[in-house]
Amino acid sequence: MMVFRQARQHLYRMLFGVGASAVFVVIFEQAFGHSSIPFAICTVILFAMATGMWKYNCPRCGSNLFMRKGIPLPWPNKVCSRCGVDLKHGEQDGRTG
Ligand SMILES: [Zn+2]
Repeated sequence: MMVFRQARQHLYRMLFGVGASAVFVVIFEQAFGHSSIPFAICTVILFAMATGMWKYNCPRCGSNLFMRKGIPLPWPNKVCSRCGVDLKHGEQDGRTG
């Protein structure tokens, strides 16, 4: 259960999505002269992608990795903000890695 790694993958997907959306909007703007339609499409897609962040919760207390004392941030916690468990290296379960 490397929830931090999964959450970080989510962050990278979001960054890629934002970058790809910016390129898409610019290309559409160059080709058709208006960018409001692709901008709206990208906003909906990115919003739908962003809701996936609620899946990444602390395995011990259930606190969301993207929440810091009730404030949502776009990058995940390495250490749980509520119970302090090390999310990057996982709980001590007798295995290495
Ligand atoms: Zn926790």
